Amino acid sequence: MYKCNRKSLETNIKEFAKIGDDYKGGITRYALSKEDEKARDYFVKQMEEIGAIITYDDLANMYATLPGENPNLKSIVMASHCDSVKNGGNYDGILGVISAMEVLKTVVKENILHKHNLVAMIWTNEEGSLYPPAIMVSGMVCNQYLPENISKNYLYDNMMNSKSILDNKTTFKEALNNFKYKGVKDNRLSKEKYLAMFETHIEQGPILEANNNDVGVVTCVLGMVNYTIKAVGQANHAGTTPMSYRKDALYAMSKVIQIIHDELDKLPKDLVYTTGQVYVHPNVHTVIPDEVAIMIDIRHESKEVINQAVEVLKNLPKEVYGCQIEVEVNWTRDTVYFDKTLVNYVKQSAEQLGYKHQYINSGAGHDAQFASYMLPTTMIFAPSINGRSHCDEEFTPLEQCGKAIDVMLNAVLRCDKDN
Ligand SMILES: [Zn+2]
Repeated sequence: MYKCNRKSLETNIKEFAKIGDDYKGGITRYALSKEDEKARDYFVKQMEEIGAIITYDDLANMYATLPGENPNLKSIVMASHCDSVKNGGNYDGILGVISAMEVLKTVVKENILHKHNLVAMIWTNEEGSLYPPAIMVSGMVCNQYLPENISKNYLYDNMMNSKSILDNKTTFKEALNNFKYKGVKDNRLSKEKYLAMFETHIEQGPILEANNNDVGVVTCVLGMVNYTIKAVGQANHAGTTPMSYRKDALYAMSKVIQIIHDELDKLPKDLVYTTGQVYVHPNVHTVIPDEVAIMIDIRHESKEVINQAVEVLKNLPKEVYGCQIEVEVNWTRDTVYFDKTLVNYVKQSAEQLGYKHQYINSGAGHDAQFASYMLPTTMIFAPSINGRSHCDEEFTPLEQCGKAIDVMLNAVLRCDKDN
């Protein structure tokens, strides 16, 4: 069994943490920014040093390829992203890129024979924190393989027109055209040229740490549904309308949220749901709110449990405190299961290395979930201390990063050998 070099790994984690350093412990590294470009420069420099061939596609996804012994075989790719959210951590995404780099470095250093090309890849704009939506570019690259209700959210022209949240003017297309690493469409990840994709990522949750495990063998990305719930009341003067005359949509919505929590908490404990987005009209302190909408996001592996949760929404009272309650579906996505053979390679690697591991699902979305519609794909998780992610405090100890990479390295070599 092979292991990656911890010193090299440590240096890489530290060096990438400097690019977009927010001086509060984390980074802000938006897609297609100067910082993103610097991170790519660093990737190119290191990968060229080991003799990898660098290419990039029309969406600025980058590929460092170590040619295999048999040029007729498809490539095996290891991919993640190097963009971050605002004041994000030093591990989300970038650990996957570093992992892919460390695997290639180890293969070169240890002179490991491989039939297939081995590729380290960087996805552009996974976070979508400057140019929404999240997992944008994998949604574009894999578009023709996605179910229709998902693919329509990532159409090329619409994505190109996505505007910067900072100036509400610069489009994704403009930023891309000005980016150093915009290449040609022919270089894109494709079913024709690639055999399988692996992604190492931090868990971004507390489960591995709570179970005292070092590695997560990821089996799926949770299915989710997204609904809008609306309360429609009546606007009126805040000073002249007696309480008994009011139809206060915000008050009604607070009751609705209470009911949702009470009812959904009766379902299996691993169901997660969030009412993270609220719209209040007219949102003026002298006016009784006449329209309030919330967006609810519900996730679980089992479709049956999701359906039970949806039933709760559908059975909400039609009227609360004199306000009409309306429930509308925005979109749904089934659980995406990773390729069983690849999941097994990961599991066997962890076993043979003697690392403490467990099966785990991903509550967060990842590029790998879209890639998995196109080609066999799987993920490996490293623990997140205190379950923290998308924040300055995000942390995974060096040795646990190393173990996740060792698992990917040996799983990739197994995949190379068996195919
Ligand atoms: Zn990520």
